[in-house]
Amino acid sequence: MKIESIEISHHRLPLDPPFRASWDGRDRTYFDSTIVRVRTDEGLEGWGSGDLMVGFEGHEELFIGWDPMRIERHFTVLSHIDFHYGRCWPLDLALWDLMGKISNQPVWKLLGGRHDRVNAYASSGTLRDAEAIADTALQRIEEGFKAMKIRFHRGDWRDDIKVLETIRNAVGDRLELMVDCNQGWRMPWDVEKPWQLKDALQVARELEKIGVYWMEEPLYRHDNEGMKQLRAMTDIRIAGGEMTRDLSALEGIIHDRALDVIQPDAALVGGITGLRRIAQLAEASGVTFTPHTWTNGPGVVANLHLSAGVGDVPYLEFPFDPPEWSLARRDFVMAEPLDINANGELMMTDKPGFGIDLNEEMLKKTRLK
Ligand SMILES: [Mg+2]
Repeated sequence: MKIESIEISHHRLPLDPPFRASWDGRDRTYFDSTIVRVRTDEGLEGWGSGDLMVGFEGHEELFIGWDPMRIERHFTVLSHIDFHYGRCWPLDLALWDLMGKISNQPVWKLLGGRHDRVNAYASSGTLRDAEAIADTALQRIEEGFKAMKIRFHRGDWRDDIKVLETIRNAVGDRLELMVDCNQGWRMPWDVEKPWQLKDALQVARELEKIGVYWMEEPLYRHDNEGMKQLRAMTDIRIAGGEMTRDLSALEGIIHDRALDVIQPDAALVGGITGLRRIAQLAEASGVTFTPHTWTNGPGVVANLHLSAGVGDVPYLEFPFDPPEWSLARRDFVMAEPLDINANGELMMTDKPGFGIDLNEEMLKKTRLK
């Protein structure tokens, strides 16, 4: 069997009302998704999504005519494209979907089939006042979630601590709480400085009192030494690495034990092929691996298969903060949204590949080019 074509399409969902992401600073009035379809000469199609495939155009010929099952070879070419151009890992995801369809197996089983379900945590995206977030947290418990991630805003962190105390008082021990400090990276227009170690340490001491499960991105992304020191000075798990671009940098973080929780995203770095190595290396080194998934629905699904197949994640990120970030928005390219069961779990199925279909009608309506 050979790869016959690779087709890429770009789609834009208008967001009205806009989505105000806590880490952005600008209202988001639309949500873009790119779909990569790989077809074989026998009529099978795999697809992936999650990043915009910047710089891929013109490289199709490096894959056409090849056996789609030669995934490690394709990974090597994609890593070279990543070095020279953009992050084109959705093609790796599409190839995994295709390999599943060729072998009539779900991706999570091709990867090893370690777990048939994964706990989800509700990853919030917007800032609300204390009472409103406490109500939201209670709602998440009703829906079945066992964990939720709260965003800090970028004024005085003491205000965020007050919000967090209100949430803890409302939910008691019924919900694990994570905190994303979002100090690791910035949008291109945002030049505000990140926290330094002593800022992060003061926050960590407050989070200890509130019993927070992990503290995410407390320092700038390259400050591995700072992370390591912070780890040593607090009981709170330190998490990060969601936008780290290189597998070697992730390996370095694990080797140095700079984080307790490492969060690379298969749609943004290394694809499933690269991150399955990182998941295993992390586990062997006593570092928790649990992917970032804040791209789009198919990005969540790909990281879910990786997590179920090879990982041992305590909770997987499930971007969910309606009405601003609803399943309908997040999963607009998918025929059916991905949702948790009443126990807060994402259940794996035996459908081949990633087991999801595209919403072709919606894709037609939202197509840019
Ligand atoms: Mg994050």
